[in-house]
Amino acid sequence: MSRSATADAIVVGGGVVGAAIAHRLAEAGLGRVVLCEQARVAAHGATSRSGGLVRLHHTVHSDTVLTARSLPVFEQWADIVGGDCGYRRTGFLQLVGEQYAGALAVHTAAAASAAGPRRAEVIDPAEAARLYPGLALDGVAAAAFEPDGGYADPVRAATAWAVAARRLGAEVYEGVRVHEVRTTGGGERVDGVESTAGRIAAPLVVLAGGAWGSAPAERLGVHVPVVPRRIGLAQAHLPGAGRPGSPGSVPTCIDDTTGGYFRPDGTDRFFFGVPSHPDVELGRDVAPLSDGELSAALATVARRVPAAAAAPLTGTRAGLDGYTPDKRPVIGPAGPDGLYLALGFSGGGFKMSPAVAELAAVEILDGQAVAGKAEQPLLAPYRLGRFTGGGRGIRPEAPYAHM
Ligand SMILES: Cc1cc2nc3c(=O)[nH]c(=O)nc-3n(C[C@H](O)[C@H](O)[C@H](O)COP(=O)(O)OP(=O)(O)OC[C@H]3O[C@@H](n4cnc5c(N)ncnc54)[C@H](O)[C@@H]3O)c2cc1C
Repeated sequence: MSRSATADAIVVGGGVVGAAIAHRLAEAGLGRVVLCEQARVAAHGATSRSGGLVRLHHTVHSDTVLTARSLPVFEQWADIVGGDCGYRRTGFLQLVGEQYAGALAVHTAAAASAAGPRRAEVIDPAEAARLYPGLALDGVAAAAFEPDGGYADPVRAATAWAVAARRLGAEVYEGVRVHEVRTTGGGERVDGVESTAGRIAAPLVVLAGGAWGSAPAERLGVHVPVVPRRIGLAQAHLPGAGRPGSPGSVPTCIDDTTGGYFRPDGTDRFFFGVPSHPDVELGRDVAPLSDGELSAALATVARRVPAAAAAPLTGTRAGLDGYTPDKRPVIGPAGPDGLYLALGFSGGGFKMSPAVAELAAVEILDGQAVAGKAEQPLLAPYRLGRFTGGGRGIRPEAPYAHM
């Protein structure tokens, strides 16, 4: 395949974030958009392993707003992006103990305000158990219910974004690693990239490389506090888990009383989360989940889904995501003019990626890939500058034990 030596924008990283941004830039008519992915699109980073939970509920309201803006995209995927993202509406439950019932009400009101009143409500545990007979809810004081919550398939979603970008003229280079962002004017302006496919000139470079993504910025002297963490998921056979009305039915769920999360997978399978781990090396293969990690995660989830205790495991997977100190992404311009960051999605980037891509593309097209001049108010909380000068980053409006 012949490759362009020049572009109007280069997006580095073909996970769900980079693929979505490439599509939005191409859709807006930016010109020659090039997406560089060192492996294959959606095959290497967090996107390739993600659980794909889709929910509104967050303890930081700017996150809630981004996910509320993203949900209709998952729902109307074929019309907006094309293809299929595997969205499945299972209902979502956020469970909390007595101490956090007040905070749950605050965050549920924020979700209803951002997405519409029928999208989020507080229900009592008895109602939650009636809706999902596969749950045991001892120790749960309150639940937030989102009927349109559920999950989608991150690999299909990222692939669909890349296919849609290509349809609009973007070039997707797989197996091309960017090792350096070039600048001109004494480091004032971005000039393109050096890659394993050679030099590509461009006035705009978007770094969306997930756990690996901050390295090209660091080489320019732009410190982005993103560190890799390993996150895991296990899959079990659980008859009726995803069949509404079945005695084994469970929702997509985050349980703050135990720190666990899970969701059905199709009708008779079930995914549950294995906590993230900071001890990873980027250059190496991701270590598989250990027996100890799996049995601890299973014990956690079995408190809410008793049938899981005896469910045969059918698979496990682990991947790396980039984490920031406040577990919120860094989005916006930084360093030389023309450099734009979309990094550090900290284990939660999938569900907000449609809105992030839409808003980032608007900012970039408005000519605001210039630090200090970006203006999308919904992205304002996520600037790199929140960590400089002793800044503590984003704080939840009302935290839970685990969020
Ligand atoms: C097990 C697991 C479960 C998760 N569950 C959920 C969930 O339920 N809901 C949710 O919202 N989020 C979840 N997440 C998090 C979510 O999947 C990520 O936040 C999101 O996929 C990040 O997308 P990304 O595009 O930023 O990064 P990635 O998907 O990691 O993509 C980055 C890509 O950039 C490429 N790259 C990096 N550097 C370069 C370079 N220099 N040159 C070329 N290419 C480069 C990499 O190869 C990679 O393909 C989960 C993550 C994991 C691992």
